[in-house]
Amino acid sequence: MYLYPYDIVRMKNRLGISSGEFLEQHTVTAIRGNPFFPNVMLKMSDQDDKACPFLSGNGCRVYEDRPFSCRAYPMERGVSPLDHIGNRDILHFIAIHSYCKGHGESREWTVREWIENQEILPFIEMNDSWTDLDVIFRTNPWGEQGLNAKAFKMAFMGSYNMDAFRNFVFSSSFLERFAISEGRIKDIRNSETELLKLGFDWITFFLTGKGSLSTG
Ligand code: SF4
Repeated sequence: MYLYPYDIVRMKNRLGISSGEFLEQHTVTAIRGNPFFPNVMLKMSDQDDKACPFLSGNGCRVYEDRPFSCRAYPMERGVSPLDHIGNRDILHFIAIHSYCKGHGESREWTVREWIENQEILPFIEMNDSWTDLDVIFRTNPWGEQGLNAKAFKMAFMGSYNMDAFRNFVFSSSFLERFAISEGRIKDIRNSETELLKLGFDWITFFLTGKGSLSTG
């Protein structure tokens, strides 16, 4: 199962472990759709059933913070990057799998109702921003060094490893180099969602020189 950066923030906090521990214990990476940036995927059980590691006798161990794919299923969402006037094209699909008993339910849901019922909005906000970064990654900003480039390692940290990124922000000259308001600094201290948004802004800045972040 594909994991978005925001999925990892939610799941690792639910489990009470660091993002580094989560990445190490529960994920694998592989180059898939984007040839210049690996997908981060949930590591399934190595038993024959290949079950999700968070499935227990009492159901999902991370249910309140389950990832986007689990919340949205069977809805799938296709999103274009922002265009020059700040709009996106968005399409919603239904995945049909014969094993899913939910298709037999009599109730019909609108997309809006499903998003609300499954509390998907915060995931959508972060995942849509991730789509814009994915477009940048597809230009191979790492050059010949590929995934060995320092820029790639920084981008991966700013996307997936919020504990390491927090340490970097607050233990280096980061806050002196960038013009970040006191209010935003307070927000990123208190919220890993806000920290992740800063991570996305930082990556956009150092790879393109554009975006909302600027040097002080
Ligand atoms: S809902 Fe929970 S147990 Fe089911 S696949 Fe998602 S994370 Fe795993």
